[in-house]
Amino acid sequence: LLDALADMGALALERVRLVEDLDRAERAAETDRLARALLTSISHDLRTPLASVLGAASTLRDLEGALPVESKAELLTTIIEESERLNRFIVNLLDMTRLEAGAVAPNLAPQDVAETIDTALRRTQKILAGHRVAVEIAPDLPTLRLDPVLFEQVLVNLLDNAAKYAPEGSTVTLRARQDGRTVRIEVLDEGFGLPEADVERVFDKFYRVRKSDRVRAGTGLGLAISRGFVEAMGGTVTAGNRRDRLGAAFTVMLPVPARTTPRDIAA
Ligand code: ADP
Repeated sequence: LLDALADMGALALERVRLVEDLDRAERAAETDRLARALLTSISHDLRTPLASVLGAASTLRDLEGALPVESKAELLTTIIEESERLNRFIVNLLDMTRLEAGAVAPNLAPQDVAETIDTALRRTQKILAGHRVAVEIAPDLPTLRLDPVLFEQVLVNLLDNAAKYAPEGSTVTLRARQDGRTVRIEVLDEGFGLPEADVERVFDKFYRVRKSDRVRAGTGLGLAISRGFVEAMGGTVTAGNRRDRLGAAFTVMLPVPARTTPRDIAA
């Protein structure tokens, strides 16, 4: 019996080692993927806009006197827009680094969800100009404990993606309602949606569903950052597809604070 037990022990140990080896190999492969993705991203997302800025600025300097006013204005617009893109990328990288270092301390305070949604919609008005926007906010939403800056950024990222990945003229829907002890905020679009196998991976850093998505001026960090921000506020965010039609559905769930506010009781 002792021998049999010893054999079993040895076998179990061997299995643990195998699993550990597999874990290590998986982690190494993931680190490798991230290192490559970071390099690709830096070379593409930093160098492409920088090349445009340099090109436009050099043209302005060299041909200054010979250029018609409209061309000058166009070149200046390029410089500004591409610099904004560079800035977005750097802010994304910094946010990601802060999240990974555990340095994002949310400033939680009682917030009116509808108000923050309004601000996010105002901030994305330009980006969503080519889309129809449907806002369906339940009138009796409870006050939540949120960091308005983080929450607004999450909504801006989701709305920005809806604008990028769903065709012009289609409708982007923002819905918010209470569901038990959580408030459920959904951003729905009418684009191609997501392959079922990718609904978790879209939250990975630098992950893109289609190679061509890289061209759309994104950084591949928006959803990773959004998930980090939502989790820092005690919530969850998931990706999926709409049931009623073709299109992606992103759902943010935020907890209703245990201590009820007068508005909660009224609701
Ligand atoms: P990106 O900067 O590339 O948009 P994100 O982290 O925001 O990075 O999104 C990761 C990937 O998830 C995108 O590149 C795209 O492939 C996919 N994705 C995100 N939002 C949507 C959406 N609304 N519809 C379809 N695909 C989406």
